[in-house]
Amino acid sequence: MSSNEQHILIVDDDPVVLKSLKDLLAIRGLDADTAIGGREAIVCLDQKDYDLVLLDLQMPYVNGHDVMTHIRQQNMDLSVIIVSGETSFDAARDACSQGAYDFLRKPYATDELIITINNALKEKQLAKKNQLMQDQLRESERLHRYLVNTSPDIIYILDPEGNFTFINERIESLLGYDASELIGKHYTLLVHNDDAEVARYVFNERRVGDRASRNVELRLKCKDDNTARFFETRALPIELSSMGIYKNEENPKKRTYLGTYGVARDITERKLAEETINFQAYHDLLTNLPNRALLRDRLSLAITQAKREEEMLAVMFLDLDRFKNINDSLGHVIGDELLQQVSTRLKSCVREGDTLARFGGDEFTLLLPKITKGQEDIRKIAEKINDVLRDPFTIDDNELYVSASIGISIYPRDGTNMDNLIKHADIAMYHVKDKGKNGYQFYSDDMTTPYFQNLSLETGIHKALDNDEFHLMYQPQINIKSGEIVGVEALVRWEHPEHGPITPAEFIPFAEETGMIVDIGHWVLRNACAELKRWRDAGLPEIRMSINMSARQLAEKDIVKRISNMLKDYGIPGHCIELEITENTIMSEMDSVIHKLKELSRKGVNIAIDDFGTGYSSLSYLHKLPIQTLKIDRAFIKELNMNNSGNSIINTIVAMAKGLDLNVIAEGVETQQQLDYLHEIDCHEAQGFLFGKPLPADVISQLLIQDPYSIPGAENGIPNSRHRTH
Ligand code: C2E
Ligand code: MG
Ligand code: MG
Repeated sequence: MSSNEQHILIVDDDPVVLKSLKDLLAIRGLDADTAIGGREAIVCLDQKDYDLVLLDLQMPYVNGHDVMTHIRQQNMDLSVIIVSGETSFDAARDACSQGAYDFLRKPYATDELIITINNALKEKQLAKKNQLMQDQLRESERLHRYLVNTSPDIIYILDPEGNFTFINERIESLLGYDASELIGKHYTLLVHNDDAEVARYVFNERRVGDRASRNVELRLKCKDDNTARFFETRALPIELSSMGIYKNEENPKKRTYLGTYGVARDITERKLAEETINFQAYHDLLTNLPNRALLRDRLSLAITQAKREEEMLAVMFLDLDRFKNINDSLGHVIGDELLQQVSTRLKSCVREGDTLARFGGDEFTLLLPKITKGQEDIRKIAEKINDVLRDPFTIDDNELYVSASIGISIYPRDGTNMDNLIKHADIAMYHVKDKGKNGYQFYSDDMTTPYFQNLSLETGIHKALDNDEFHLMYQPQINIKSGEIVGVEALVRWEHPEHGPITPAEFIPFAEETGMIVDIGHWVLRNACAELKRWRDAGLPEIRMSINMSARQLAEKDIVKRISNMLKDYGIPGHCIELEITENTIMSEMDSVIHKLKELSRKGVNIAIDDFGTGYSSLSYLHKLPIQTLKIDRAFIKELNMNNSGNSIINTIVAMAKGLDLNVIAEGVETQQQLDYLHEIDCHEAQGFLFGKPLPADVISQLLIQDPYSIPGAENGIPNSRHRTH
């Protein structure tokens, strides 16, 4: 700071003295103001900040002492050098006791005066600098304190014993403690019991720099009162960084350890986000069940454990039967709701330690580790699953029936690695589907791998149509009262040149998805009509030909024309044909479907609802449709129980059909008891292995030739199982 920036005031009642002093200072490069007498001096001092005043003591009216009193009273921060003619020691002492910097007697030695002035100015300058520094320091400390206390992190200092010597105010909002109550307390007070070991390392950190602890995760305990923010969890996840604090930091040999400084960051939100992401990565969002990834994880773990403990484990592959129907006809919202309800019921079947996962779509997988009683254990669970799904599900006033096909593989018998176990459970599941769904089956080596697992179905089907790999089989439909064959259902078969027979269950759903069912359907229609014509031409008794029609095929614009052309081409009257349509086919495009069905009906063609009872039980649409027949799905027949009232579905369908004047065909009749029951409740017709599996055309014509044109040996109108055809 140059002296120019310092302001000097010369006060004297003698203008000559004033001038000579001002000149003297000017020569030394010091600029100064002047005031004649004490009164003017006070005016000057009040107007401007001075650093130094050269003050005469003896002045009339307002003397030098009065000026000094004023300076003191106004708390002016300046130095006063008395330049006075007063020679007494007392005067000097008084002046100094009033705060004068120095006392110079007139006449003064110029050099002495200048030196004194310079010293006073220098001291003043230093004092000013000092003050500035102190102000800055205070300000920075205030700022620092502010930053520390408003920091989102907990900041603390521990002494070498681990007791808090400082902790910022953040601790209040995060853990519910008052910062002051923790001073002197040991850090362990705050640490979650399970994290004591980790905490010991981080909180006692002595290292500094790169080697110090960084971002170590642990949990702190909240104070036990309800004001704490995280009172539900009572623990706060944090990320802690800490380092040692030393005196003489620069000199490693002499430095002394003072304690630890640490910063703890609240990572609750991040943890929650991580947990959510983690959950989502390993769970199915619709049902909250573990997903495929988590199942694979658990299965691989369970296999390792089973290997070590020489135990068995089981994998169940579970596929809902006809779920696609529900999804297609009632929509995804109801489909989703159904999946949720199904998974809740399934959960009730599993034991602790089992993993029920949603594998995708309507597929579930159940991992059963620690099988002790062998197949019996598993059988019980599989039966329980089939059982809990038996009661209808109610969704939005719809009563929905679902069942599940369950395939089971066992470690180590059916596979020792994950993929084999899953694959074999899957194959076993397909065998259940093949055998009429709703049940369970253990894998066995003689089960063949479903075709589509090996080959591309799409090209396969195209080739099959070109190469005549499809053929039709015909399953008799019997009038229960008379035992007569009244019709046959045409069922398509695929004889693959390499893979052998491929069941409709394996390729029809795929063909429906891809639309190839349309071509297959036309092929079936034409061939079934051609066969019927041959029987008619041969003079065989008139029977009805039932043909399955898929939704995609019925959606074709020219389907009605195509069918009526076909009838014309083969000379078949409409009433000899019955088209089997599933409920979901009708429901998905009700308006256009009704229109087409009515046209077909006008041409005499019969319409049957296939697999009735499985789509959903909203029956209100029945009377709107031009239908003649209901085919009760074989799942219901399978469950027919003579002593049980659980036959209510069948009873209801038969009674309802009677009311609507519809023909009823029971599908999948396999036992005499089932047939007896159906007879008792006046069900009209039956179809099933009891009377015959789907048969080649020539076998059918043989059967029809026999007189009476019924299955031979029918007694009391009811065909006996002795006379089953195969
Ligand atoms: P669906 O129309 O309900 O056909 C009846 C199915 O039940 C046939 O299976 C038949 O073999 C089987 N079945 C008959 N009696 C019994 C029995 O007593 N016990 C058991 N467990 N099963 C019996 P298939 O031939 O495997 O056909 C399965 C499904 O594939 C058919 O069910 C039908 O939906 C579809 N399908 C078959 N052929 C065609 C076709 O030409 N066109 C279309 N669109 N679908 C077809
Ligand atoms: Mg059918
Ligand atoms: Mg059916």
